[in-house]
Amino acid sequence: MWNILGEGPLASPDDWSSGLGAGPWGQGADTATGLEWQERALCAQTDPEAFFPEKGGSTREAKRVCTSCEVRAECLEYALAHDERFGIWGGLSERERRKLKRRAI
Ligand code: SF4
Repeated sequence: MWNILGEGPLASPDDWSSGLGAGPWGQGADTATGLEWQERALCAQTDPEAFFPEKGGSTREAKRVCTSCEVRAECLEYALAHDERFGIWGGLSERERRKLKRRAI
């Protein structure tokens, strides 16, 4: 299990299934770290499993949700800045984020 927000809310599929929230951001934005935009994360209202598919699993549903998310840019920026290695963030998969980072260098 991992905690993507340090002192903030736990965010893994295990935590979501225990009722803490859903999607990469779950519920309860971390206002202490300037991540208030999490409150508008569309994934908090969806199936958390879709954002962390098994290897080879479909990412389509998660990406579809991200397409309509108003904080997509902030989410992607966060994932890139924190080198998030797993899951769909800001509409991109791990591989797509790696590619984007390589192009930016
Ligand atoms: S862009 Fe996608 S992963 Fe990021 S907060 Fe929005 S719905 Fe969640």
